[in-house]
Amino acid sequence: MEDKLGKLKAELVELSKLGSAMAVLGWDQEVNLPAKAHRFRGEVNALLSSQLHQRFTAPEFVALVEELAKADGLDGDGKVIARETWRDVSRARKLPPEFVANMARLTTAGFQAWAEARQKSDFKIFLPALQKIIDMKRREAELIGYSDSPYDALLDEFEPGMTTKRLDELVTPLAKQLSELIKQAKGKKVPVLPSLDYPIDKQIAMNEEIAKAIGYDLAAGRIDASPHPFTTSFHPTDVRVTTRYDKEDFWVSTGSVIHEVGHALYEQGLPANAFGNPLGEAVSLGIHESQSRGWENFVGRSRPFADYLNTLLVKHFGETPYTAEQLHAWLNRVQPSLIRVEADEVTYNLHIVLRYEVEAGLMKGEIKPADLPSVWSQKMKDYLGLDVPDDARGVLQDVHWSHGSVGYFPTYALGNLYAAQFFNAAKKALPNLEAGFAKGEFKDYLAWLRQNIHSKGRRYSPEELVQKVTGEPLNSKYLVNHLRAKLS
Ligand code: MG
Repeated sequence: MEDKLGKLKAELVELSKLGSAMAVLGWDQEVNLPAKAHRFRGEVNALLSSQLHQRFTAPEFVALVEELAKADGLDGDGKVIARETWRDVSRARKLPPEFVANMARLTTAGFQAWAEARQKSDFKIFLPALQKIIDMKRREAELIGYSDSPYDALLDEFEPGMTTKRLDELVTPLAKQLSELIKQAKGKKVPVLPSLDYPIDKQIAMNEEIAKAIGYDLAAGRIDASPHPFTTSFHPTDVRVTTRYDKEDFWVSTGSVIHEVGHALYEQGLPANAFGNPLGEAVSLGIHESQSRGWENFVGRSRPFADYLNTLLVKHFGETPYTAEQLHAWLNRVQPSLIRVEADEVTYNLHIVLRYEVEAGLMKGEIKPADLPSVWSQKMKDYLGLDVPDDARGVLQDVHWSHGSVGYFPTYALGNLYAAQFFNAAKKALPNLEAGFAKGEFKDYLAWLRQNIHSKGRRYSPEELVQKVTGEPLNSKYLVNHLRAKLS
């Protein structure tokens, strides 16, 4: 059995190297690609993803994984590797190779159409591609199979074990409580920060300094610019982040860098000696998001961090026309807004509830892609009381659907729930945790995350991990308490 496990691990390393090569192309596509290169890149992506898929679902490989997954006598690590690989293979086998190649071609074209549509703020440019993508995702749900809702088949890809039913338990009461909090905050004065110019070269320097201070290894990563900030990993020694810049608001780039570096620290902290197999992989997107949210919201928006941040602002931009206290109040202001990635912590989750309802509706066929701009406007009005002025600031703001990622958005809200629960556990374990933030000391928090979360790979399911690390099942109590404290 050990021989066979060795064979499996060796094959997984090769597959992951091919996956890394594809991820480099994906990074290049979003950071560097010339306008005319999309069609050809789409062909390259389609070829590589169908070849990778064929190799991952080859009969001999599937038989090897199945034998190991059903065998007795593997040790703990071997059991995790076989169990999780079988989970992945079982899912992948349900999708025919032509389906995978078509999806890759479609989403490359879709991304191009989305980018143009967003730039021109015209949903009609994206609609034909989106229609095809949604049709494909509905077919995908049928191919994968589900017991309750077609949406469950898609959710499970990003958050193993998550279902519409469990999500409704967690998110629906959260939405109610948040709407209440927002109503209470209405009419309160929203803090503003006196204006200052933030030249981009100086933002870059400050962001690098913060990224290093919180533990990002820049010799094993880099920070670039892209329209939609993201993190991508090719190996724990090459984990890259992107951000975007606004000369009048440094937090657009700095907040994104802290967020994306939170993702990157998880990837850099996965065991490199398990590269390729599930013990060297992140457990879910929700847990991934808990890492970025932990750093962005529970560290980056804390009162002690504002002292550190204000010192850095003075260092990089000269005397600031505000105090750390004002900076902290501004970073934590609550104000309904149109753009999800710029939303405050309280209203953010309502942006997710909106997308969750829209996606579930699309998958059940209750919402048609052509109706999205009007559905979007109605829900923005209902949840946040806002009028959507144009498509770019409405339905076109997010890249996800153009990538074929449906069922992804809920992992953001789950990430917030996990992050609050994890941070509470970290504070219990490390009573002086937050005091260090004021001095730019983050080592203890990172060490705690490394030990409790990063080093575990996919050993436990997301819900098991939460139970193990915090001593209770996932719940919304800690997030609601955290947000309530913000508003008082
Ligand atoms: Mg994120």
